[in-house]
Amino acid sequence: METDTIAAVATPAGEGGIAVIRVSGPEAVSIVDQLYKGKKKLAEVETHTVHYGHVVHPRTEERIDEVLVTVMRAPRTFTREDVVEVSCHGGMVPVQKTLEALFAAGARLAEPGEFTKRAFLNGRIDLSQAEAVIDLIRSKTDRAAKIALSQAEGRLSRLINKLRSEILETLAHLAVNVDYPEYDAEEMTSQFLEERCRYISSQIEKLLSTAKQGKIYREGIQTAIIGRPNVGKSSLMNALTQENKAIVTDIPGTTRDVIEEYVNVRGIPLRLLDTAGIRETEDVVEKIGVERSRQALQQADLVLLVLNFAEPLAEEDRRLLELIGRHTAVVIVNKMDLPGQLDLEEVKQLIGDKPLITTSLKEERGIEDLEEAISQLFHLGKMDMGEGTYVSNARHIHLLNQAKESVDEVIQGIEAGMPLDMVEIDLKNAWQYLGEVIGDAVAEDLIDQIFSQFCLGK
Ligand code: GDP
Ligand code: ZN
Repeated sequence: METDTIAAVATPAGEGGIAVIRVSGPEAVSIVDQLYKGKKKLAEVETHTVHYGHVVHPRTEERIDEVLVTVMRAPRTFTREDVVEVSCHGGMVPVQKTLEALFAAGARLAEPGEFTKRAFLNGRIDLSQAEAVIDLIRSKTDRAAKIALSQAEGRLSRLINKLRSEILETLAHLAVNVDYPEYDAEEMTSQFLEERCRYISSQIEKLLSTAKQGKIYREGIQTAIIGRPNVGKSSLMNALTQENKAIVTDIPGTTRDVIEEYVNVRGIPLRLLDTAGIRETEDVVEKIGVERSRQALQQADLVLLVLNFAEPLAEEDRRLLELIGRHTAVVIVNKMDLPGQLDLEEVKQLIGDKPLITTSLKEERGIEDLEEAISQLFHLGKMDMGEGTYVSNARHIHLLNQAKESVDEVIQGIEAGMPLDMVEIDLKNAWQYLGEVIGDAVAEDLIDQIFSQFCLGK
C-alpha cells in the first residue's frame, strides 16, 4: 500500500499557456495548503471546487505564481486518493518552482505512470484500461485514439467479464455433475459443455480477429513504394506526405536509403517506405538498396508499384508485377503528362483485379484516386467504429490466444471421450488467462513493468 503523496506536471511540456500540476495522496490538501495563499485554507473548502490564489514558497516566502487550485477529495478522483490540481500560468520557471515548493512541503516526484498505477491499485480502473491509457498517449491517428479510448472506457473489460462469467457458469454446471454423478446426466452435460465451449471459443476468436485491425490503426499500414529508378517513387512519397523529406532527383537510383514517413490517408495511417528500385546491378550501394526493397516487400501490408507511362514495359517492370502477385497492391502508372509508350491494356491484364491508377505527379493529378483506392482496399471507410472492439495490445493478444487454446482443448477432450473432471482444468485455465487481460491475478513485476511505460504525470 502506498501512502505517501506524489506530484508531477500533468500537461505536456512546452504546450499551451497553462500547466497543471497534479498532487495525489493522503497529504495532498495539507501539502498544497503550505504554499497556497487564498481567501480560505484549502482544508476548509468543499470537495470538487476551484479556488483562485497565489503560490508562495513555504520556506523562503517567495511569491511564485498566480494559480487556480482544484480540490478533489477521495474517493471520487482519478486515483481514489485526495487529489489537488494546481494550474500555473505556464512557462517552465513558475512550474518548476511550484514543484520545488511542493517537494519542500513534503510531496515527492511521481514516477512515470504512478498516478495511473494508483488508480489501478485502488480499484478505480482495471489493467486493460490502464494499458489503454498508454496507447492513448502514444496513438498516432484519431481512430487509434478512439480505439484506445473505448478500451479505456472499459469496453474490452466488459466483454472479457462476460466471457468469464460464461465460463464460470459452465464450470458450475460441471461441478454439479462431477459431484453428483448419480444424476446420470453425463451424456447431456458433455453435449452442453461442448456447445458452451464452442460458443466461448468463437467469441474469443472474434475478439482476436479485431487484433489485426487494431494493429493497423496503432502501428500504421506498412507501405512499400517500389518501381524501377526514375519512375517517380520519391515524387509519390512527397505527394503523399506533402513535404519534401525524401530526396527527389533526376539521377536514376539515387534514393539510397530507405526513408520512413507517416501519412494519414483518410484516417488510415500509412507507414511509407521509399526504397531504391528493385533491380539487379553491379553497383554495390544499389545492391544494398535492392535487398532492402525485397525485405520491405516481405514486411509490407500494402505495396505501391509505380510504372512509367513514357516508357514501354521493361523486363524489370514485369518481374515486379510478378513479385506483387500475393500482396495487397496498387499499381500506379505515372507520368501520364508525357507521350505514352506503355500499353495500359497489357498492364491491366497482368494485374488482374488489383487497382490501376494513372497519375501525373508532376501536374499533381491522380493522387485523390490513389487515396480512394487505398481506403477501398482496407474497407476502413465503411467500418463502424461504434461496433468494433479492437484488441491491439500484444499482451492481450497472447493471453486471448492462450485462452482460446485452452477452450479448444476442452472441446477436443470431450470429443475424445475424456472424463469431465479431466477437461475441467483447461476451462479453469481459460478463465485464468482471460482474468489476466483485465489484471485479475497478475504478478507484481508485470504491473511495475506496464506502468513504467507511462509518461511522467499520468
Ligand atoms: P524515383 O527514382 O522513382 O524515386 O523517381 P523520382 O520521384 O525521383 O522522379 C524522377 C524524375 O521524374 C524527377 O525528375 C521527377 O521530377 C520526374 N517526375 C516524377 N513524376 C513525374 C510526372 O508525373 N511527369 C513527369 N513529366 N515527370 C515526373
Ligand atoms: Zn526516388
